[in-house]
Amino acid sequence: MPTLSKRTENFTDSVIRRMTRISNQYGAVNLSQGFPDFEPPRELLDRLAQVANEDFHQYSVTWGAQNFREALAEKQSRLMGRKIDPNAEMVVTCGSTEAMMAAMMTVTNPGDKVIVFSPFYENYGADTILSGAEPIYVPLYPPEFHFNADELEAAFQQKPKALILCNPSNPSGKVFTYDELKIIADFAEKYDTFVITDEVYEHIVYEPYKHTYFASLPGMWKRTISCSSLSKTYSITGWRLGYIIAPDYIIDVAKKVHDFLTVGAAAPLQEAAVTGLRFGEDYYRELREKYTEKRNLFLKGLDDIGIAHTIPQGAYYILLDISEFGYRSDLEFCEVLARDVGVGAVPGSSFFREDVNHLIRLHFAKKNETLYEALNRLEHIRRKIKRK
Ligand code: GLN
Repeated sequence: MPTLSKRTENFTDSVIRRMTRISNQYGAVNLSQGFPDFEPPRELLDRLAQVANEDFHQYSVTWGAQNFREALAEKQSRLMGRKIDPNAEMVVTCGSTEAMMAAMMTVTNPGDKVIVFSPFYENYGADTILSGAEPIYVPLYPPEFHFNADELEAAFQQKPKALILCNPSNPSGKVFTYDELKIIADFAEKYDTFVITDEVYEHIVYEPYKHTYFASLPGMWKRTISCSSLSKTYSITGWRLGYIIAPDYIIDVAKKVHDFLTVGAAAPLQEAAVTGLRFGEDYYRELREKYTEKRNLFLKGLDDIGIAHTIPQGAYYILLDISEFGYRSDLEFCEVLARDVGVGAVPGSSFFREDVNHLIRLHFAKKNETLYEALNRLEHIRRKIKRK
């Protein structure tokens, strides 16, 4: 038989998605893959039911339905502080997973280098490999997950084509400050580099932290490819609606890549989601409040159990320190956790370039009752998982 492609040899399937399958197998409370178990806003579901009987069952325009792009442009123009052209400056994609992949294929050639902060969201590793690029990892140092500007500049000196910026950050929960973003912006300018952002948690930020869109920094619009999605903002991860916003000369190319990758995002879902894009400011405030309550509830529960953890400034992930259990493999620990304690988590090693085996990631985008159930189970963690 002929051999399969070389480009697929250097990465495994997603450990995040694998942990969901393992959790389901053991009937664990699944706090691994980040998605909610509560309903999306009622208005979106009602609109979805209507759309089923309307005329939205064929392809929409490949780079996104007009109605959807106009509503998205209006919302993001307000947030990003510039007038975004719905026809020339955006592409609607199948989730931000496609947006990030299309952005990478739009800006990189095989062999190009791309800066990735570590810890990082798992997909960026596979994205770089699939597009033939080579990652340069720059560490973020806990507890605040600061970067060292000299280390970052040393990475820029290796002539990368782009830097990937996940802000608010998965899995660290870091929200980059304006000053940190400015340092990145100055290097991007000095070394003439693109910045690809992943801002899917843009609306999930805890007081007193604030989200700054990288594209809104002085001079950065022309070199930023902003990727995001509706998944987390409207609790519709299964709808697979994402997008890229960038200047027209970049979008022209991203449209081509997207067209041949997927043709387009689901037309009926785009139409139904317009309802969400038109929500007023109250919706986003309530979303923040809801997640703040969940974060506080979950952090308090973990403190009562006495497990050391990170405190997220944004997004909905917490890294827990499992050193006390003495496991050398965090993957093995997560399997035991799902099987014996009944809680699904993601091994921290899936996010770190460095050799890190003492962290696991849990998320709290769940109904309060689900979080309480997980905490009840975690209370017995020391009885159920013996020190190795
Ligand atoms: N972003 C989510 C996580 O980190 C999952 C996204 C996905 O699986 N596509 O868990």
